Amino acid sequence: VFVSLEGGDGAGKSTQARLLGDWARGLGREVVLTREPGGTELGRLLRDAVLHGDHVDARTEALLYATDRAHHVASLVRPALARGALVVTDRYLDSSVAYQGHGRDLGADEVERLSLWATGGLLPAVTVLLDVDPVLGRSRLTGSPDRLESAGDEFHRRTRQAFLERAAADPARFLVLDATTAPDELARAVRERVAPLLGV
Ligand code: C5P
Repeated sequence: VFVSLEGGDGAGKSTQARLLGDWARGLGREVVLTREPGGTELGRLLRDAVLHGDHVDARTEALLYATDRAHHVASLVRPALARGALVVTDRYLDSSVAYQGHGRDLGADEVERLSLWATGGLLPAVTVLLDVDPVLGRSRLTGSPDRLESAGDEFHRRTRQAFLERAAADPARFLVLDATTAPDELARAVRERVAPLLGV
């Protein structure tokens, strides 16, 4: 079962990924927690290049994320799913549609097609959108901001809107949660959505 977590910076995606993983492991399931960009060794190089390296233009950035995703899916996600694991990824294709498609204005449809091509059409069974006001989200981050985190408020407002619109258009895949809710309450809502897919 393939689950993705999406939302702005500081929404609490990695915390929810961990809580979901802990719960499923407790049921005796194999769990793979991963992330984009950077879920693989090549992905970590790409992550570093795109977030901390020389400035690259929007198309180059979109292709680097797509490269990361193609390799991530082929080398890690698909093999884990084939073993019957629960795979939980912190960000997936909806981030590209929101950030590169809408934020960078490359066009949502084109960026989505690029991602679908890169992954051979793999979509999560469930996508949890942790919705947060971008200013509040970034105030919850610790450490030094990367390039994207220091982008303007307008950029982050557009990406938030894009996530919400995608979620509204596909309620069968998306679970939208208010990221200001207490973490254990969020975790319960996520578990309720995922449990039937694991047969529990
Ligand atoms: O969530 P994480 O810290 O891994 O994301 C790193 C940065 O990359 C974030 O600022 C996020 O907005 C950005 N990003 C992006 N496009 C993607 C994935 C992440 O701009 N497809």
